[in-house]
Amino acid sequence: MDIPRTFNITESAHRIHNPFTPEKLATLGAALRLEAGTRVLDLGSGSGEMLCTWARDYGVIGTGIDMSQLFTEQAKLRAEELGVADRVKFIHGDATGYVSDDKAGVAACVGATWIGGGVSGTIELLAQSLRPGGIILIGEPYWRHLPPTEDVARRCLAGSSSDFLLLPELLASFGHLGYDVVEMVLADQDSWDRYEAAKWLTMRRWLEANPDDEFAKEVRGQLTSEPERYAAYTREYLGWGVFALMAR
Ligand code: SAH
Repeated sequence: MDIPRTFNITESAHRIHNPFTPEKLATLGAALRLEAGTRVLDLGSGSGEMLCTWARDYGVIGTGIDMSQLFTEQAKLRAEELGVADRVKFIHGDATGYVSDDKAGVAACVGATWIGGGVSGTIELLAQSLRPGGIILIGEPYWRHLPPTEDVARRCLAGSSSDFLLLPELLASFGHLGYDVVEMVLADQDSWDRYEAAKWLTMRRWLEANPDDEFAKEVRGQLTSEPERYAAYTREYLGWGVFALMAR
């Protein structure tokens, strides 16, 4: 079981697989006023940076589940490196339908809401692992400006413009699901660059090390076209944020 190889190549050097900087991740942890010992569940935990740094900085404990074998290995190494391996656990697996017996104070899905079939399904899934009064974290894109055409939406790598909402609409949609939005931390264009532009050097180095790999042609194509596509479309039209929700 694994995710498509392209992500394991292009994001192999990322600690955060989202348009967030380490500073923004720390801002989010501080904004949530986490208490030591709070249990955090993270579906689609990637390389574990959120759990590991929050365990180090705020004393949380918790579990992450991720389908990428590589990212899960990196998460375990990071926990060792930060001295929090006794507080956080990383499971390599499919998080679809995952419900924890130990109810969490924070249940998160940050940039992987397809795990629950979309935002509302993911909120429903996370709610099953949450203790009463707990906080759900959803990391999700939104449109900074509505794409003028469907072609522009697709060049932002959306399936269609209806995949995402404008920020006020996204915030309102949480209300319609019966949740208060109690905090949010948003990406900006600079933090998007840290996510997207960091892939380019990784791709370049991978190509130099793996010129004969069956994937080399695809990676070469991406490296050639991505900077311009990203600058013209994703960077301009797509926002991203993590939203903290509490049931009304
Ligand atoms: N939350 C992390 C990773 C976000 S990227 C971070 O912010 O860094 C999306 C992650 O979802 C990837 O790590 C990918 O491996 C994982 N993923 C995709 N489908 C999944 C599934 N069905 N179950 C668990 N993880 C999944």
